[in-house]
Amino acid sequence: MKILLTNDDGIYAPGLQALRRELLSLGEVVVVAPATEQSASGHSVTLLTPLIVQEVLDDEKKFLGWAVEGRPADCVKLALVELLKDPPDLIISGLNAGGNAGINVLYSGTVAAAIEGAFFRKTAIAVSQTSGRPNPIDFQAGAKLARRVIDRILESEPSTGSLFNVNLPKQELGEPKGLKVLPQNVAVYVESFVKNTDPRGRTYYWLGNDYGCPVPHPHSDEDALAEGFVTLTPLQFDLTDHAKLAEMKKRTWEL
Ligand code: MN
Repeated sequence: MKILLTNDDGIYAPGLQALRRELLSLGEVVVVAPATEQSASGHSVTLLTPLIVQEVLDDEKKFLGWAVEGRPADCVKLALVELLKDPPDLIISGLNAGGNAGINVLYSGTVAAAIEGAFFRKTAIAVSQTSGRPNPIDFQAGAKLARRVIDRILESEPSTGSLFNVNLPKQELGEPKGLKVLPQNVAVYVESFVKNTDPRGRTYYWLGNDYGCPVPHPHSDEDALAEGFVTLTPLQFDLTDHAKLAEMKKRTWEL
């Protein structure tokens, strides 16, 4: 099996390195990932500057892949259109340092990379490790768990082009209670900005660290993660509201 591995934390991120080690026994792994961290860059792509690429070797001086001075979505696009000799059977994005459940799916560069793969009708899985910062993440343990989930997904024989979002619960909750297939949470999140003054007397705002969903919908990814379950959510990139569309079609729309 040919696997394209990417992320949004950057090619040298410990989560990607740990997941690569776990995936090497599943197939041939080529990494195409951002040269620097691109978290929360969503589905941004680079139009106005070149995508500089650099070949990268692993610790054993074996070919690891390419570092790209661009966004996660750039990496997958460039990998599929230009860099890879053979098309991959599977695209994995992660292991992200931090969860990507609920509406974070839309901010996430990790998930965007997987979505970009699905645009090309490749089966793609985003994998994120929820963390209770500032507690350090055990990426090796996270990657081992991620591999188990990836194996379960592959055993289910997903149709080509399937897109999945996997979140691992906080490690301080102990051994995961199980794997749950759930929708993403869409209950309201709370957030705030910290207002301050910079050394030159200018007012600035900085997104605060209290971001979260106080009351997630029951039977959603956020809810199950808080209870200590691994969550698996199938995604699609068609944002059309089909129920609304059917309702609107009942009306005659004229200009
Ligand atoms: Mn990230």
